[in-house]
Amino acid sequence: MPTYTSAPKPRSHSQYNQFAQCGEAYRLARVEKRPSDPAGWFIQGTAVHSGVEAYERSGRSISPAAVVAHYHQKWEEELAAGLTVQSDTNRWMTGGFKSGTKDLADRRDLGEHQVLDYVTYAEQSGETIWTTPDGQLAIELEFTIQLGQVPMRGYIDQVVQTPYGLSVRDIKTGTKKQSSALQLALYRRAIWEQYQVDITWGDYFMCARKGRSPKPGGPTDPIDLTTIDQHWLERQYAAMDAAERNGVYLANPGDHCATCGVWKHCKAKGN
Ligand code: SF4
Repeated sequence: MPTYTSAPKPRSHSQYNQFAQCGEAYRLARVEKRPSDPAGWFIQGTAVHSGVEAYERSGRSISPAAVVAHYHQKWEEELAAGLTVQSDTNRWMTGGFKSGTKDLADRRDLGEHQVLDYVTYAEQSGETIWTTPDGQLAIELEFTIQLGQVPMRGYIDQVVQTPYGLSVRDIKTGTKKQSSALQLALYRRAIWEQYQVDITWGDYFMCARKGRSPKPGGPTDPIDLTTIDQHWLERQYAAMDAAERNGVYLANPGDHCATCGVWKHCKAKGN
């Protein structure tokens, strides 16, 4: 059992997300620190973010080939790390029937396509990356704030200057539709706490798809983040923090078990 502490712990949105989806997965991964099975989608996501970051940090001055080189460099680093956990790529998680090796090859191609597509989007969109009042380019922007009683930290993928104003943006390399704007609302609050800049909008940038239904990448419709109540936002993270500190880890078996990195250790799955 976890050690109970009376003070809220530093939290992140990804902690909240994992805890809300399945408390047992949180406990196994973050309290018992069981190693998570590697999966191609983690590598793809990290490598695409790295390529996009390199492109934006350069002021969009590096060539598409250089963006792809950044992408592949990060891919190889992450692949090497995954291989130390599971050296047989056929045994990596895929979330489906495809072999791990084939899934990795497909995702490597898809990620390359996604970063190149992002460059095309950025050049044509008329949008630019915002510069914070203290002179930082708002890409992978680190924050540490006090949200009510709970210290929160994280990185904001992007804050973008759009024709309709600033928008906090999170980049998604998968196809899953986002069911909540809580993450974006947290980022909006973080920008307010750090810079006293009130941003109305948020969106998810859904990266390009290949395959049977190819689609270029682009942002979702803008979401009005001012409709999310600030006290409710604080209570969500406070509730997660209190539940976790009190050892309330509810297993929640479901479709997401297919992509759970700690399923091998899960008693809800009979392991
Ligand atoms: S396998 Fe399913 S129930 Fe078990 S920890 Fe993972 S997500 Fe939770």
